[in-house]
Amino acid sequence: MNKNPSFIPFHRPSIDESEIASVVATLRSGWLTTGPRTAEFEAEFKQYVRAPHALAVNSCTAALHLALAALGVGEGDEVITTPLTFCATVNTILHVGATPVLADIGADGNIDPASIRERITARTRALLPVHYAGAPCDMNAIWELAREHGLFVVEDAAHAVGTRYQARPIGSADEAAGGNQSDAVAFSFYATKNLATGEGGMVTCHDEELHRRMRTLCLHGISKDAWNRYTERGRWFYEVVECGFKYNLSDIQSAIGIEQLRKQEKLLQIRERYAQYYRDRFADMEELETPQPPPTGSRHAWHLFVLKLNLDMLSTTRDEFIEDLRQLGVGASVHFIPIPKHPCYAEHAGLSSRLCPKTMALYPRILSLPLYPDLSLDELEHIANSVQSIVHKAKKQRVFAANY
Ligand SMILES: *Cc1c(COP(=O)(O)O)cnc(C)c1O
Repeated sequence: MNKNPSFIPFHRPSIDESEIASVVATLRSGWLTTGPRTAEFEAEFKQYVRAPHALAVNSCTAALHLALAALGVGEGDEVITTPLTFCATVNTILHVGATPVLADIGADGNIDPASIRERITARTRALLPVHYAGAPCDMNAIWELAREHGLFVVEDAAHAVGTRYQARPIGSADEAAGGNQSDAVAFSFYATKNLATGEGGMVTCHDEELHRRMRTLCLHGISKDAWNRYTERGRWFYEVVECGFKYNLSDIQSAIGIEQLRKQEKLLQIRERYAQYYRDRFADMEELETPQPPPTGSRHAWHLFVLKLNLDMLSTTRDEFIEDLRQLGVGASVHFIPIPKHPCYAEHAGLSSRLCPKTMALYPRILSLPLYPDLSLDELEHIANSVQSIVHKAKKQRVFAANY
């Protein structure tokens, strides 16, 4: 390595003059909260993922919570989800009063349908898969289980803007697809996600009634029908028909989202190239396992590039590896600390580490490398060189120790 460029952060957003101009125009328009820009964002987003309905919300957490609440999932119901996820996935299940139950993962880091099957009981009401890192889950197997047992499917698609499953974008739905689609799909536009508005989210669905219910719950449970029914009273009148939430997305954030969405395909192509570069650079290193693209027809959104360390070939730990990267000017991260590791969930039997031995065994091996379109080629090369040099050093020490 000839040079050590200034620190490469784990993430930088892809924001340029178009987002800035869009926000300025919205600020000048006089309308700041949910309004015309949000309607435009919803319209373009549902076209992008090919869904009949989309509701913009202020986070993916809100999207998941709204979907579960509007479907009527609650006390006494069990919801099966993955341990390799952000806490939001599990928290929303708890927020509606339901019981989260963990299934274990497969080789791609996604929830394993065979493990889901083992967790289904008479109280199971919904399945909540997460498209880990942007790789599509085995949805056909998940939908089949749902049909067989009469379960809802709500997808956590926080990593999956741009992901395709067998030629269909994640989030796609239509009345004709029958059981081969999910009830609701929740996206995140958090600052580090592929499509970023700072904070934000979207929930898509195929059922018009569910969409209407989520829209009502999204804004305090205020019925828009009341406005229409009582027009003679003037525009000031409304009725609260349900105790809802405050989950709407502002026009300022939607102004960013519209521009981000229009660039998604271009940004995704850069992510694909960068992921391929990493795979090529690490192809001959048996100490590392790299994520592979899904079968033809499906598409990985490359939100994350997660390296797995073969620790038995290395005289280092994942934590030391990340620290060594930091010393070389590279910010890495871990996705995720498994759900059972958090003290908050210790008292929940359904969130025990006993339910997910594969996830617990994987955890000490994983780290996420920087992967975003605003990385320069020099930075990408420096990251790959840094990983290689750490592996080479750790490998030599192992040979030395064995001979000694
Ligand atoms: C980021 C993330 C969320 C939460 O998204 P917010 O928009 O911040 O609420 C949920 N699930 C997963 C897997 C995530 O990575």
